[in-house]
Amino acid sequence: MGNLAATSAVNRVLIAGAGLAGTAAAIDLAAAGVAVDLIDIKPEVDAAGSGITMQGNGLRELRRLGVWEAVLAAGYPFDSAGLRAPDAAGTLLADLPGARTGGPDLPATVGLPRPALARIMIDRAVAAGAKLRLGTAANALSQDGDGVDVTFADGSAGRYDLVIGADGIRSATRRMIGIADEPRPTGMGIFRAFGARPASVTRTDLYYGGPAYIAGYCPTSEDTLYAYLVEDARDRSGQLPSERLAAMRQLAAFYHGPWDDIRATLTDPAAVSYTLFESLIVAAPWHRGRIVLIGDAAHACPPTLAQGAAQALEDAAVLTELLLSGAALEDGLWAAFTARRFNRAKTVVEASCRLAQWQLDREQGDVMGLIATITALITEPALRPVRGQR
Ligand SMILES: Cc1cc2nc3c(=O)[nH]c(=O)nc-3n(C[C@H](O)[C@H](O)[C@H](O)COP(=O)(O)OP(=O)(O)OC[C@H]3O[C@@H](n4cnc5c(N)ncnc54)[C@H](O)[C@@H]3O)c2cc1C
Repeated sequence: MGNLAATSAVNRVLIAGAGLAGTAAAIDLAAAGVAVDLIDIKPEVDAAGSGITMQGNGLRELRRLGVWEAVLAAGYPFDSAGLRAPDAAGTLLADLPGARTGGPDLPATVGLPRPALARIMIDRAVAAGAKLRLGTAANALSQDGDGVDVTFADGSAGRYDLVIGADGIRSATRRMIGIADEPRPTGMGIFRAFGARPASVTRTDLYYGGPAYIAGYCPTSEDTLYAYLVEDARDRSGQLPSERLAAMRQLAAFYHGPWDDIRATLTDPAAVSYTLFESLIVAAPWHRGRIVLIGDAAHACPPTLAQGAAQALEDAAVLTELLLSGAALEDGLWAAFTARRFNRAKTVVEASCRLAQWQLDREQGDVMGLIATITALITEPALRPVRGQR
């Protein structure tokens, strides 16, 4: 850990949640010499999970955080996407070049196993000097003009200059600071299966139509992939893993081409999960006094654009840049944070929801126009170039 940055607005920070937003904020702050406690309610943060599609603008942040080589070694980069028909051959309808939203020197997309990405980020945060405590949460937050007193679930206590709530879509921090917004269902549910990558899968292909709204897959390493099917939201919580696998296989039976190879390996009930799509946008500002929300705690989108993680990383980047810029932890800093993050994140959430709604309504919306708008937006670096080039 380096010496405390003379220009930091904060000396001691608690980050609740060691997902992508929390670890990213921890890396930047700890590397600048800020004392960072990083906690997560889970005893392990890299134990389970499917794959993740990381777009270029997210890769730009991962590179800035010093983990690009590790990400590339763990993942599977690709530069185009296929559009396939839900017909007997899985006919390739279009070959779409992927936009390099992180810059020309980064691939358009990298697929990764979620546990591998989580491990990379945690290791980097700890190496930068963050103190990691797993299996604990903040039970109570009480702030005055100078700091925040925190009581933890294990009975311990601490005082911080700032608390960052990076505790995900069901953020307890959000509730503790009196923000009543909660995620809303978007009407879709997704089967995801993590498994072996057949040779026929070298990028994401998307099939629209048939019994699922979207049937797709993403390679996540030389050996692995995740495949997904999006349907009308259903309560499948009572299903046994074997029943869930059978339901996914039944839907998948309609899709061909590389899906035939994937289906052949879809045999492990433990590899299949089912999640409902939700969305959330907390009205600005995202802070109350010395407690601020970032990532899914502040805004979450259905993964129709695969932007949630990238937006979480961008929140962390902008917040930490402001905290380390010399500005005091006052209204001006918060106004700048809102100005740089709120509209961008909101636009992404709304576009993601619109894409889902067009499908639910079976409406032929201007999908390409919407994607072009978002691509232009996220290609603009979230950080000012001088730091973004680091
Ligand atoms: C089905 C699905 C597929 C998706 N696919 C993609 C994709 O391909 N690409 C993409 O960019 N995005 C995708 N997303 C979105 C992406 O997963 C999220 O936007 C991203 O993980 C948000 O990161 P985060 O750090 O804000 O929150 P999280 O990743 O949710 O991390 C929050 C952390 O906080 C911890 N926590 C929770 N409560 C507490 C507490 N009280 N105290 C302490 N810790 C706590 C949790 O254990 C967790 O580790 C997808 C989302 C869904 C639902």
